Amino acid sequence: MSEKIYSLVVIGYGGMGSQHVRMLEKVDRIKVTGMYDTKQARLDEAASQGFKTYDSLESVLTDATVDIMLIATPNDNHHDIAVRGMQAGKHIICEKPAMLNSGEIEDVMQVSEKTGKLFMVHQNRRWDEDYLAVKKLMDENTLGEVFYLETRVHGSRGIPGDWRHEASRGGGMVLDWGVHLLDRLLLLFPEPVTSVYAKLSYILGHQVDDGMKAYITFESGKTALVEVGTTNFIPLPLWYVTGRYGSAAIQDWSMNGQVATLDRVDDHKDAEPIVAGAGLTKTMAPRTKKEDTITINPVPRVESDVREFYYNFIDSIEQTSQPIVKNEEVLRVMKLMEAIFESHKLGQAVQLNL
Ligand code: NAD
Repeated sequence: MSEKIYSLVVIGYGGMGSQHVRMLEKVDRIKVTGMYDTKQARLDEAASQGFKTYDSLESVLTDATVDIMLIATPNDNHHDIAVRGMQAGKHIICEKPAMLNSGEIEDVMQVSEKTGKLFMVHQNRRWDEDYLAVKKLMDENTLGEVFYLETRVHGSRGIPGDWRHEASRGGGMVLDWGVHLLDRLLLLFPEPVTSVYAKLSYILGHQVDDGMKAYITFESGKTALVEVGTTNFIPLPLWYVTGRYGSAAIQDWSMNGQVATLDRVDDHKDAEPIVAGAGLTKTMAPRTKKEDTITINPVPRVESDVREFYYNFIDSIEQTSQPIVKNEEVLRVMKLMEAIFESHKLGQAVQLNL
């Protein structure tokens, strides 16, 4: 028996809609057949590329040949399009952030349950090599038990000048980038979150946050700093991860960085004092390779292919696999983002059991 090829229509053929189409060119179980966009220019572009175009959402919903709707519109209408899509019998791939609040996600989960249609969120940054390298270091216990990590993205170009400026459209950096960093953090530290202290920034004067810093504490006391910045002209590392016996820093998406590990775990002897600044210090004397107490390695490289997401989506429809991105995980991240907004508003830490 030959395998079914699923027909997919892109809803919102902008930047990310186009990126999906490029990725899907090499996914043989899915055929992109058409597009719907509220902008005529985008439909003209789709038509010039040989795709079928739809002049309303309704016309996609009533097209029985469409199996999957891929939602890549601005964030505020993901919920309604997803609900209508599933009610019309379509499976849904939805861009992040899935929704604007946890109530909307719970609602969509119920509709998915009721209709039997799959709803899966494109948390594609689970396939980023920098994240996978950190995961590998933690899985292999290279640094000893990791008790603190920093995960961040720093840019200096502000918020792109479109719907991302508008609160009602789900703009702002917590929802835009925070969602990715938090999603991955909860996979790296698989235990309950007990508190969050967050500060958002509004340096650029938009209605929405242009950056965030959130300190997140987990049940065992492990802590993470999650940071998004859009006015950082010198970016700090994407990752700084530290365990009892080593630390790793990943500077950028080209995987510059290093992993430092202690050679002798029982090495507690005092260092010779060094001159540092205007004083002397033993405590802060750097370890050296010369003393043979530390090894520095490059960051490990990990192969990944984000197309695994689409194949998993098809396998999940056919129930030969479980969704890689689970709706319960998406809901938990949304609740954490709600706690981040709450902490900023209150100016204090929010206690959680999440
Ligand atoms: P964009 O502005 O480039 O594209 C959005 C498109 O949707 C536009 O062409 C617009 O005309 C169209 N549109 C608006 N309202 C619509 C509606 N009601 N029905 C149909 N079409 C509509 O935005 P973008 O950067 O492509 O972002 C789209 C989504 O993708 C957002 O949810 C964003 O967060 C997400 N995104 C994800 C990633 C990722 O790596 N996962 C990267 C960028 C954007």
